[in-house]
Order: sequence, then structure tokens, then C-alpha cells
Amino acid sequence: PADVETLGRNTWTLLHSIAATYPTTPTTTEQSDITNFMRLFAKLYPCWVCAEDFQKYIEKEKIRAQSRDEFGNWLCEAHNEVNKKLGKPTFDCSKWQERWRTGWKD
Ligand code: FAD
Repeated sequence: PADVETLGRNTWTLLHSIAATYPTTPTTTEQSDITNFMRLFAKLYPCWVCAEDFQKYIEKEKIRAQSRDEFGNWLCEAHNEVNKKLGKPTFDCSKWQERWRTGWKD
């Protein structure tokens, strides 16, 4: 199996990319789909200690997905929680779309 770091980096790419393509005004079905997906993801993520903590995080910080920006920010905050746990710098969530959707302006 892939190591925890490679798995993590690739998984964050997938999750933030899903947020980037999530509708700006999702239907109730789309909102429940993303919520169910994240809950199942948290159960099935193949790094068991990571998955256990992420499931607890989801219970504590309810998934917010009423718009693309709301879900992107929720996911960014969830990623920051893992960053803090690992002693990595936190990311400025006002820049999540720039990083994962529109590309950096520079
Ligand atoms: P990563 O954290 O993988 O980030 C990749 C890129 O995302 C960064 O280079 C940056 O450009 C961008 N980024 C960083 N922070 C944010 C943010 N908040 N919002 C948006 N974009 C951001 N590893 C463990 O050792 N223990 C764990 O318990 C653990 N739990 C995890 C739980 C989940 C759900 C996932 C997906 C991964 C977990 N990992 C865990 C892996 C860990 O988060 C990292 O992926 C791994 O350590 C590699 O880190 P990295 O420095 O390459 O950057």
C-alpha cells in the first residue's frame, strides 16, 4: 500500500478538487450526496488512525455544504485540523479557490 504521506497528499488533491467542482448552488440531493460521500470516505480511508480521527472531527464539526464556497471552507478547516496535529503550517482558507480551482494569481 501507498505510504501515509503519499496517500494523504493524493487524497487531499482529490477532495479539494471535488470541492472545486461542487456546484455553487447545490440541490438538496447534491448536498446529501457530498455529506454521505464524506461520511463513507471517513469510514473507508485506508489509514486507520487517520480515519478514526477524521470520523471524530466530522461528528464534532458538522459537514457544511450549502454552496461550493461553504464546502470548500469546511474542507479547508478539516485539512487545517490535520495540519495542526502534524505540526504543519495552517493554510489561509480564504485562498482555497485560488489554490484548487482558479489557479494562483501572481
Ligand atoms: P498535504 O497536507 O498533503 O497538503 C497538500 C497540499 O494541499 C499542500 O501542499 C497545500 O498546497 C495544500 N493545502 C495544505 N493545507 C490546506 C488546507 N487546509 N486547505 C486547502 N489546501 C491545503 N497523516 C498522518 O500522519 N496522520 C494523520 O492522522 C493523518 N490524517 C489524515 C486525514 C485525512 C482525511 C487525509 C486526507 C490525510 C491525512 N494524513 C495524515 C496525511 C497528511 O494530511 C498529509 O497529506 C501528509 O502528511 C503529506 O503532507 P504534505 O506536506 O505533502 O501536504
